Amino acid sequence: MTLTPDVLRFLVRRVFNAHPGEIPCGDCYVHVDHFAEMELAGLDAAAALPLVEEHLQTCPGCREEFACLVAVLRDASQAPERAEP
Ligand SMILES: [Zn+2]
Repeated sequence: MTLTPDVLRFLVRRVFNAHPGEIPCGDCYVHVDHFAEMELAGLDAAAALPLVEEHLQTCPGCREEFACLVAVLRDASQAPERAEP
């Protein structure tokens, strides 16, 4: 994609006309580890961090990041059990 003035205008408009409750990826990234920990602890992360939940629903990149984080945290919590001696 070439950044012509039209494309820039489109991007700026997208950023500033975002849904009022929407958070940028940077904000999601800050909270996503807490969100993942709550999920694994069986807490209602979506209720505690609704903006993060909403962002994960709409952003494939952050959703992938979240999925990786959950997988890593889940592995870490099961670390003492090793399949091989
Ligand atoms: Zn995102």
